[in-house]
Amino acid sequence: MDIQAVQRTIEGFVRQRDWEVYHTPKNVATALSVEVSELLENFQWLHNPSPQEIYNDGDLYRRVKEETADTMIYLLRFADILNIDIASEVERKLKLNEEKYPAERSRGEFRKYSRQD
Ligand SMILES: [Mg+2]
Repeated sequence: MDIQAVQRTIEGFVRQRDWEVYHTPKNVATALSVEVSELLENFQWLHNPSPQEIYNDGDLYRRVKEETADTMIYLLRFADILNIDIASEVERKLKLNEEKYPAERSRGEFRKYSRQD
């Protein structure tokens, strides 16, 4: 399913429940933030599990997948409400990030290349 098809499915889910009135940009951005927090909650008080450790813990992996989906649903809904072509914006932003973090200066460094400390 492509991005726009997923957005149409989400829109249909919202319309069938007459929830459009609640789906203001502020409300959906708030819901997105809550869902990201629910994703993070799965790691609260844990060490820093590797992807393999997460995958091997079936219950944790299931919860992480569900919260990842919730997060994506609200992100796609937010973009749809504001008529943001998310695929184009991601490509555009990645180009800006390539300029901001050129690979030859940023490889292995998490700090911005221009930072001096
Ligand atoms: Mg959730």
